[in-house]
Amino acid sequence: MFVRQANLPLCEEHFPWWFERKVERTLRRYKMVGPGDRVLVAVSGGKDSSTLLSVLAELSGKMGFEVASVTLDLGIGGNSYSKLSVETAETIARKLGVEHHTVSIKDKYGFTLDEAVRAVRRPPCSLCGLIKRYALTDVAREMGFDALATGHTLNDVARFLLSSYITASLAELVRLTPVSASELPGIPRRIKPFYESLEEHIKAYADLKGLKYLRDGCPYARTAPMDFLRSFLDGLEARSPGMLNAMVRGYVKHIRPALEAYLKDKLPELRPCSKCGMPSSGDVCAFCRMRERVLERLS
Ligand code: SF4
Ligand code: ZN
Repeated sequence: MFVRQANLPLCEEHFPWWFERKVERTLRRYKMVGPGDRVLVAVSGGKDSSTLLSVLAELSGKMGFEVASVTLDLGIGGNSYSKLSVETAETIARKLGVEHHTVSIKDKYGFTLDEAVRAVRRPPCSLCGLIKRYALTDVAREMGFDALATGHTLNDVARFLLSSYITASLAELVRLTPVSASELPGIPRRIKPFYESLEEHIKAYADLKGLKYLRDGCPYARTAPMDFLRSFLDGLEARSPGMLNAMVRGYVKHIRPALEAYLKDKLPELRPCSKCGMPSSGDVCAFCRMRERVLERLS
């Protein structure tokens, strides 16, 4: 493996070691976890989240935190895709010896993603994002975890940055942090340990470790808005190795602090949703409003 960004050739034995040290540095740099913390890892069975679970399980002993994992059964693809996703995640967690939880969206909230897509006029990935963000935080809160870890990669962060610039979504842009502090008492902080890790390195690590992750894509993936930005940014990184890292580092160091100062007092303060108690910018949170509409159409 040749790590172009660092001009570093590494053998099969040392690449995983280098990759784990890189993730460890990210965890320490942004104070994502502390000794004694209980960390819940969101695992879909795909490459990024499965690798995240493997790396955090490896680092947990040395850094003194506990790891468990959770998979949401979203009911995608008439359940066939979600079933595969749940089975893959459960197998990986079992092999790593990690305590694992599976949560069905249908059982917990009364509808599947497929049903929500049919009931509400909104792009599937946008609905899915809202459901996952809400449900994972809700589950982590109920189970008393200190942090919720997601497999967002450097490539994802760079793509979100660019799409937020394009659409001038300042509120979303300012939230693209490696760590999101607890929004209300009892709500776990959200962490992105792969904030500085490229997908090509994550894949190399997963393959070298022999992780049997899910290779089939979600049937809604082709509807993802702004997906063309992915290949644009991949091309940029291929031509100038280190470009994505420079872009995201520059954002964290210079752009975000300026944006945060500019947005001070302009964004609504978060308060508990009057229906579910989760953080909300209005009286009722976006999830509860969407859920009500979906359940109404289904009844
Ligand atoms: Fe959800 Fe879209 Fe990802 Fe499918 S591709 S899991 S719908 S965000
Ligand atoms: Zn709510």
